[in-house]
Amino acid sequence: PYKKMMADEILRKRKELLGPSLFYYYQKPLNIVEGRMQYLYDESGKRYLDAFAGIVTVSCGHCHPDIVNAVVEQAKLLQHTTTIYLHHAIVEFAEALTSKMPGNLKVVYFVNSGTEANELATLMARLYTGNLNMIALRNAYHGGSAGALGLTALNTWKYPIPQGEIHHVINPDPYRGVFGGDATHYAKEVQDHITYGTSGRVAGFIAETFQGVGGTVELASGYLKLVYDIVRQAGGVCIADEVQSGFGRTGSHYWGFETQGVIPDIVTMAKGIGNGLPLGAVVTTPEIAQVMSQRIQLNTFGGNPVCSAGGLAVLKVLDKEERQKHCADVGCHLIERLKELQQKHEIIGDVRGRGLMIGVELVTNRKDKTPAKAETLLLHERLKDLGVLIGKGGIHGNVFRLKPPMCFTKVDADFTVDALDYAISGM
Ligand code: PMP
Repeated sequence: PYKKMMADEILRKRKELLGPSLFYYYQKPLNIVEGRMQYLYDESGKRYLDAFAGIVTVSCGHCHPDIVNAVVEQAKLLQHTTTIYLHHAIVEFAEALTSKMPGNLKVVYFVNSGTEANELATLMARLYTGNLNMIALRNAYHGGSAGALGLTALNTWKYPIPQGEIHHVINPDPYRGVFGGDATHYAKEVQDHITYGTSGRVAGFIAETFQGVGGTVELASGYLKLVYDIVRQAGGVCIADEVQSGFGRTGSHYWGFETQGVIPDIVTMAKGIGNGLPLGAVVTTPEIAQVMSQRIQLNTFGGNPVCSAGGLAVLKVLDKEERQKHCADVGCHLIERLKELQQKHEIIGDVRGRGLMIGVELVTNRKDKTPAKAETLLLHERLKDLGVLIGKGGIHGNVFRLKPPMCFTKVDADFTVDALDYAISGM
């Protein structure tokens, strides 16, 4: 039996002791005390199927034994020194990570979060090109620091501080976007921003291939190829934010950007790279990485032995357990079943995604696509009662995000869809 602090007391203390901007899911937030692969357990011992993976972070599974073991063994031997001394774990991890990258993406900077990764990537883009203007997509989430908030384009997260010479172009959203799935029109808008809003030269372009926080929006097919050409013509570099979509989650490819047939100049990653360890990385070409040698740089925890050992174990597990293929199999099944459910329930306006990176958008009216905000909240709560934890997203908060640990099975997928069916039917 669980004997530590119970939910009510934690919540009371949290409100008193922690910053008021923290938010939580569910009217009565859950006190999760244990995790095993795709399952979570609350203080009463109730088991939940986790279809959100700690916001798309637990890639291999909660407390995966191989990763726990790697972390514990390293922690017993040496936890920390920083990169002023040598250690094998950081180079082993970097070698394994770069072996997964296409093209000349062969140099790594390790950091501790997605926000930090995007900050560093932006800095590199500006230094390398000598230009200042960045282009990002509307509906993007790239982090919460002062700099990364400038890239983020959701007013729910932004503060009124200097936004740092960022142009936000229309996101090529096949469901809601003004040009539907036509990538050429969206790409032209990027050119227009460069022509009318800059000197004609830009530092770079950043995009998630699947907008995560924005509600699992897969960019219109062919978009990145067109935009990368435009941005490179204007002297800029192209950054792919793979914080959510990397490591095989999309099933068809190891990296999200590969689904668009492009090779970025800089790739940022976090979340799934560490299965829950605070870990992020920026991978780029030797030429671009070189610009950072104008000054010295130190990230105290970046690439520390414990996170590097854990990160290496993650890459090995994903390979050994063939998780990319598994995501394709289970994701295909899950999407198929959700599309069937869409036939049955008017409220499901759109089912989208790839592999285990799925969005289900709820609308009160399919023609006008009116966001079903209240219904989404209600169903979210109901699903939790039925034992399924999923994410929410989109600027209107009306998109369910299904991004479970990659060990999620077809049986788990069926359970999730059946629970959703039951919840909608009872509404
Ligand atoms: N990029 C993307 C695509 C994200 O989803 C997030 C986090 N939700 C971030 C960057 C920021 O990552 P972190 O919270 O680790 O700073």
